[in-house]
Amino acid sequence: MRSLRSILLTGGAGFIGSTLARQLLARPDVEQLVVLDRLTYAGSRANLITLDQDDRFRFVEGDIRDLGLVTNLLEKHHCSGIMNLAAESSVDRSIKNHEDFITTNVSGTAVLLQAARTVDVSFLQCSTDEVYGSALFPNQLDESAKIRPSSPYSASKASADLMVQATHTTYGQDVVIARCTNTYGPRQHLEKLIPTIIYHALRDLPVPIYGTGQQIRDWIHVDDCAKGLISVFEKGFSNRAYNLGAKCERTNLGIARVILKQLHKPESLIEHIQDRPGHDARYAISPRLALIELEWRARIPFRSGFEAVIRELSQSLRPS
Ligand code: NAD
Repeated sequence: MRSLRSILLTGGAGFIGSTLARQLLARPDVEQLVVLDRLTYAGSRANLITLDQDDRFRFVEGDIRDLGLVTNLLEKHHCSGIMNLAAESSVDRSIKNHEDFITTNVSGTAVLLQAARTVDVSFLQCSTDEVYGSALFPNQLDESAKIRPSSPYSASKASADLMVQATHTTYGQDVVIARCTNTYGPRQHLEKLIPTIIYHALRDLPVPIYGTGQQIRDWIHVDDCAKGLISVFEKGFSNRAYNLGAKCERTNLGIARVILKQLHKPESLIEHIQDRPGHDARYAISPRLALIELEWRARIPFRSGFEAVIRELSQSLRPS
């Protein structure tokens, strides 16, 4: 088992990172948690404010591409591992301009790996099911599937995965990869599908849906996702990738309909807009390896989990 004693968590002010930070601090064996985050448009210090009273928690505003800073933090806090969640995470933004995606997602990961090597700590890379590209129905892709990214975002994440694996092969570093599927939960940025639908619906504005809306995603609650990341870090075999999926496939249109129904809004608000270029038709991964080797599986039922998240996001996104 890898030790969670002192963790450097990057991207902790973002959506998944802020839930992971809470779960880590709920563990008595975590003696220190250092969050390093650049606070881009996607990160918010407010996402972590409730953790400030915990003596074990430190927040550092900074960039994962800063090798001196990262190495210094690892040494100063005697870290036992890095959990890398820092990333540019929007497919739409990556299509408009891929620059930050290459420098943060690829070069940034390489910098973290270099620092991990210097200080000799374990490394978890948070990756995505998008690296596999679209999955043909009814297949669920396992970790041996071809890497076939479609967008600049997924290509940058796939490149980072390859850097992680090459680092193990070349330098013998202890690394693990978790490939998460589409995640829903509180504190997700407004630009993402579910908060966008809720925001527009609450204002009776047209709810934009790409193309026919028949694209399929596998949805996981952020609490299950964060638990999976901890399991992969603690128990994952070195240099192995683990799919963290929930076997919960829904179309984007189906997601919009569930939200509108719960908010008592008419489906006529749905507006089909021009599809995203290179839009993957279906993401579907098999989480079997994580079940067998880590005894992890997604446990929160979609119905109750999603209902609660719609309620919570509606509170924070309601018109003031
Ligand atoms: P997010 O966009 O909400 O958060 C990313 C965080 O990284 C932000 O707080 C941002 O400020 C920080 N960041 C960006 N560039 C940085 C840099 N150069 N240095 C330091 N910090 C930087 O993203 P998220 O949805 O929480 O995703 C977290 C991770 O999970 C990402 O690696 C993403 O690729 C992966 N992932 C997300 C999903 C999902 O559905 N949200 C699914 C699969 C994988």
